[in-house]
Formats: sequence, structure tokens, C-alpha cells
Amino acid sequence: MPDALANAIPNLISDPQRYIAAPAIIERLSKDFYWYSPILKRQLDGKHADAVIQPIDVGEIRNLLRFCFAHDIPVTPRGAGTGNYGQAIPLNGGIVLDLSRMDDIEAITSDGVAICQPGVRLGALETRARAQGWELRCYPSTIVKASIGGFLGGGSGGIGSVLNGNLRDYQTVRALEIVTMEQEPQVQLLEGQAVHDVLHAWGTNGIITKIWLALAPEVDWAQCSVAFDTFAKAYDFSEHIANAPEWTKRLVTTFEWPIPSYFGSLKSIVPSGTHLIFFLIAQEQLAAFEQLSQAAGGAITYSGAYKGLSTRPLLSDYTWNHTTLWAIKHDAAYTYLQCAFDPDRVRDQMRQLRERYGNEMLFHMEFWKNAVGRMIPGALPLVYFTTEERLNDMIRFCRAIGVFVANPHVNNVEAGGRYREDNVQLAAKRRYDPKGLLNPGKMLSFQPQTEGAARP
Ligand SMILES: Cc1cc2nc3c(=O)[nH]c(=O)nc-3n(C[C@H](O)[C@H](O)[C@H](O)COP(=O)(O)OP(=O)(O)OC[C@H]3O[C@@H](n4cnc5c(N)ncnc54)[C@H](O)[C@@H]3O)c2cc1C
Repeated sequence: MPDALANAIPNLISDPQRYIAAPAIIERLSKDFYWYSPILKRQLDGKHADAVIQPIDVGEIRNLLRFCFAHDIPVTPRGAGTGNYGQAIPLNGGIVLDLSRMDDIEAITSDGVAICQPGVRLGALETRARAQGWELRCYPSTIVKASIGGFLGGGSGGIGSVLNGNLRDYQTVRALEIVTMEQEPQVQLLEGQAVHDVLHAWGTNGIITKIWLALAPEVDWAQCSVAFDTFAKAYDFSEHIANAPEWTKRLVTTFEWPIPSYFGSLKSIVPSGTHLIFFLIAQEQLAAFEQLSQAAGGAITYSGAYKGLSTRPLLSDYTWNHTTLWAIKHDAAYTYLQCAFDPDRVRDQMRQLRERYGNEMLFHMEFWKNAVGRMIPGALPLVYFTTEERLNDMIRFCRAIGVFVANPHVNNVEAGGRYREDNVQLAAKRRYDPKGLLNPGKMLSFQPQTEGAARP
């Protein structure tokens, strides 16, 4: 493959320098944060592309996909490579299509819709949006590095989801443009419900080339950290605030001790032995919020204005899946799960988990509003890894007691927990990638069609 492709490159992209064959760069751009999982680490170490190509426009992407279709070359799209499931790791060689150079923010409309290319970094989009009175509705804690295309392809939600829901809800993604993997690649516009054909499909059924993303009106935020002497009190308070509509919040993260002790650079705001909650709360409510926290038995360990992503400390750097990163830095045996507790049974579910697993599982809670407005006590509990059997036992037990688990130790769309049960992603793959050349091996329910299958 590499020879044929390398020879054709001058006809496919305007600058051959954007075809990368250097092994060290290929290795780096073939990887993501799969090593969070000891299972995926074992499975995916050593997997890499044969070449990396950095297109700059839709015309180049069409040229490349046309060539790859004709020569049966796998293509794995990549944003910034911050995904956790090995989503962007090519299993069968081929090319990594690095979209980081397609990073233009075309416009932010007067009604708050950002129109942009896939390689735009979420941090750049947030900064630009705030300059125009808007902000992202939700974003991963990797906001500074992660791309909008990668968030749509592999992410789910994060900071802001407690207020505005997850990425796939509330018509946050208004429309997408994709390029298909066919003999003659098509540019398709997916609007309304059709965006779900491609959202969270791990780049298996189309290359996202343009995004219409709904924003929220900008809020003047403050950061606040509150400590409690028991986890039960901390959880109760966080749940109350998450559910109380009168409090405008963007982040409610609850950590069981000793998790906060892993936050190296935050020592001064982490009293020993305490269970912490990190909040982003409307600045205008901060004084009243601090009073309420203290009345609930909490101690304010930090509060201050949020002045954008350069604020230090930036509490969101310790939340969502950054929490896991701090824990792994402390002890490489840590890994994690992604759970959603039942709001009506969460305390009992946590009790059962504690009884069965003790401190092998530490609670790290994140709240989000689901598609019908219910506040979900989500969690990325830390798991002290011993064996794969033990990890699978935890997943089974969670599910048996009604805790939803999106399994971050598998490398396919279906088992990851955010696959659509109505199979729209699979149907889209059959339409847009009939040979199965886009990120092959990641959508297990797909069977490649024979040579050059026609579009229905
Ligand atoms: C420390 C840490 C914290 C995290 N916190 C969160 C969090 O709070 N919330 C959350 O949802 N995730 C989180 N993640 C996961 C990840 O950071 C996000 O999902 C992020 O948005 C991925 O963006 P990316 O540009 O790095 O995507 P990549 O990793 O490059 O790609 C992700 C997937 O999308 C596909 N893809 C990329 N670009 C395109 C495109 N243009 N067209 C089609 N498919 C494409 C890729 O093939 C891949 O399958 C975290 C990860 C880490 C390591």
C-alpha cells in the first residue's frame, strides 16, 4: 500500500509534505489514551498506521478516499487523539487522516450556532464563543487539546452537561457535513435527527468535515471547592445542588477521599481526609452559594473568578476523566469505569458496591441532565485493577444492581455503551462505507459488502 499511495500523493493533496511516513510520527499519531485501560493497552500496543495524511479541505479528502476505496486502504480519522477507548487507533494499518489542519471557525451566528471545521480545538471555540457572548453547552475536560470533530466522533459530554445535557441531546449538534467512503466519495449534509447516524460512531461511517454546533448564552462563572468530613454529606450536597434549578452551575464533581490527595498541584485546597466537591457556579450566586455550603456543613477550601481556560487553578482539570489521569499518575494500577447510577437508588447502589468491593472502587461522581431533563448521578469510579476477571465481575455486578456501565475497556462502538439501539449508525455505515474501510474493526455488527456495492 505505502508505495502506491506515496506515488499518487502529488495528485491527491496540494503539498506532499502533508504525507507523513516517518515512523516516530506515525506511531505518535496512531495512538490515543487507550492505555487508561490495562486491557486495551495489552490489545492495542503495537498497532499503528502505515502513513499519516493531513488534508486541508474537502477536495483533498475526496481525492484521498477515492484512492483508498479503489486500493482497499483503511482510513482512520483523527482529531487530537485524546479518546480513551483506542477509538482512533488503526487496527489494520492504512492511513490516519489527521484533521487537525482543518481548523477554521467559519462563523458564530447571531442565534448562537458555531459553524466550523472538524479540527477546531474546543478550547479555541470556547474562547471565540465567549468573545461573542456565547459558550459551549458541554465539553470534555480535555477541552484545550480535543477537537470538535473528535468530540462528535468519540465523546459524550462533560463540563456543562449538568446544565445543558450531553452532546447528543437537546439538538446541540444541529447539522453535520460528511464525506463518504465510496468509489466516488459524496459530500452529504445531515440535519436534525440524521446527525445521530454519525455521532459517536468513532469515524466508522463518514469523515465529518463541517459542524453546526448550538451554543449557550455566556455566563460569568466562578470556581468553588467545598470539603465535607464524610462522603455521604458531600454526595447529598452535590446531589441537592445538581437538582436545584435556582442554582446556575456548569460543573458539580464529587470526589471520595483519598481521590483528592492525588491532585498533586492542588494540595493547598485539599484538606487531608476530606471529601471534596468542585463547582462552577454563576459568579453572581457565589456569596449565597458559599453560605449555603457552610450551612450544609461544608468548608470552602477555594473560591475565585473563572477567567477562561487560563485560570489557575483550573478546577475542571481535575474532573471528568482527568480525575483518572491524576490517579494513574499517583499509582499506575488505577483504571476506571463509566457509570450512570439510578437517581432513585443511588445510595443503595453505592452501598452494595462498597460492601462487595471495599476501596477497590472509589467514588467519583459527575452529574448530567439526561434527554428528558432528569438529573443523572453519573460516575467515573476509580478501580484498583488486579485482574481482568475482577474488572469484568465489577461490570457485571454494576449492571446486575441497575448501574449502567459504558465499558471503557472495549474497542468497539457497540460495547462502549453509546451505540444507538435503533442501529442508525450501522445503517449509515452500510450506506456510506460499504467496503468497511473507515476505521475497520471498530463496528462489530458491520459485515463488509462486496466490491463497489451500490448505494441504496
Ligand atoms: C484526561 C481525559 C479526560 C477526558 N474527559 C472527557 C470528558 O469529560 N468527556 C468526554 O466526552 N470525553 C472525555 N475524554 C475523551 C476525549 O478527550 C474526548 O472525547 C474528546 O472530545 C476527543 O476529541 P479528539 O479530538 O481527541 O478525538 P480523537 O481521539 O482524535 O477521536 C475520537 C474518535 O472520533 C473519530 N474522529 C475524529 N475526528 C473525526 C472526524 N472529523 N470525522 C469522523 N470521525 C472523527 C476518531 O476516529 C475516533 O474514533 C477524556 C479523555 C482524557 C484523556
